[in-house]
Amino acid sequence: MSDTFKALLVSRDENKTQSVDMVELSEDDLMEGDVTVAVEATTVNYKDGLAITGKAPVIRRWPLVPGIDFAGTVIASDNAQWKVGDRVILNGWGVGETHHGAFAGRARVKGEWLVPLPAAMTPVDAMAVGTAGYTAMLCVMALERHGITPERGPVVVTGAAGGVGSVAVSVLSKLGYHVIASTGRPAEAGFLQELGAAEVIAREELEAPAKPLGKERWAGGIDAVGSNTLANVLSMTAYGGAVAACGLAGGMDLPGSVAPFILRGVSLLGIDSVMAPREIRLEAWRRIGQDLDHGKLTALSTLMPFDAIVNAAHDIVAGKVRGRLVIEM
Ligand code: NDP
Repeated sequence: MSDTFKALLVSRDENKTQSVDMVELSEDDLMEGDVTVAVEATTVNYKDGLAITGKAPVIRRWPLVPGIDFAGTVIASDNAQWKVGDRVILNGWGVGETHHGAFAGRARVKGEWLVPLPAAMTPVDAMAVGTAGYTAMLCVMALERHGITPERGPVVVTGAAGGVGSVAVSVLSKLGYHVIASTGRPAEAGFLQELGAAEVIAREELEAPAKPLGKERWAGGIDAVGSNTLANVLSMTAYGGAVAACGLAGGMDLPGSVAPFILRGVSLLGIDSVMAPREIRLEAWRRIGQDLDHGKLTALSTLMPFDAIVNAAHDIVAGKVRGRLVIEM
């Protein structure tokens, strides 16, 4: 194995102007940690797009290798839990934010941040799921914990043609839910139906300022968009329903009222993937192995080379990416 490896490095000058360079690093450049991993696959999530374009302050230590998730093989370990040759996945824990991340040939991290790659998955499969897909599963599990079963009625997914959305649609439909997919891209209706959406609605239906209460249209929802969209989803959720909120692709605000909570007993379930406890991560990855159809995973992911990361980052922030982008190293 060569002493150096390629990496993307995001730097910023004294005027806080950000630049992104392809560089060669050595293991001496990596940060503290007790496990070193040869990165075999990674992915471009919305958050990676925000980091590379500088559109939001995701990176909080400079210069930094971005990339919030990877799958690969352990090449050195001082952690009793992991040995050389183990295949692992990393999502979150500040990697790609304050700790050198996934967009490099190697990564050094804390062993406790890693989970095992499920036996039936390749590193590319795992990154086709990636943080977006694992977050979609966290949302599904939260709805289940709240008792939102397929018998309770339809479930809406917003930002449906994106990464979180497309995995959410696939998993929910496999579990037997009637999935209503909301998208701003009518051209992706066929794609969403192939993933299992029973109905496709236009993003505009949920974009106007929300009324305190709307017609009850669904038992629950998974929202990757935020802002008016989330407020509308809540106002249209049936009595006793629940909405898992994980994203802000449409905005960070929540311009709604308490009416759905106090008049319909609707619950808003907050989802964070970054610091989620290990037991929940292990359960989410187990469920992904069980409830995400491999054919659909292939259909919703696009394989790209390392050199394509920066362009992909700009595209995802512009809302132009369909499904999941996987980078094979
Ligand atoms: P994607 O860009 O792949 O998906 C987001 C989708 O949202 C787009 O495909 C688009 O779907 C829709 N969208 C984009 N811009 C707008 C807009 N201005 N108004 C309304 N809808 C819009 O991103 P990801 O799936 O990777 O992430 C989705 C969100 O979830 C992001 O905000 C991300 O930060 C968040 N996230 C949060 C996590 C957590 O731990 N809480 C973990 C992972 C992601 P369409 O074209 O179908 O309308």
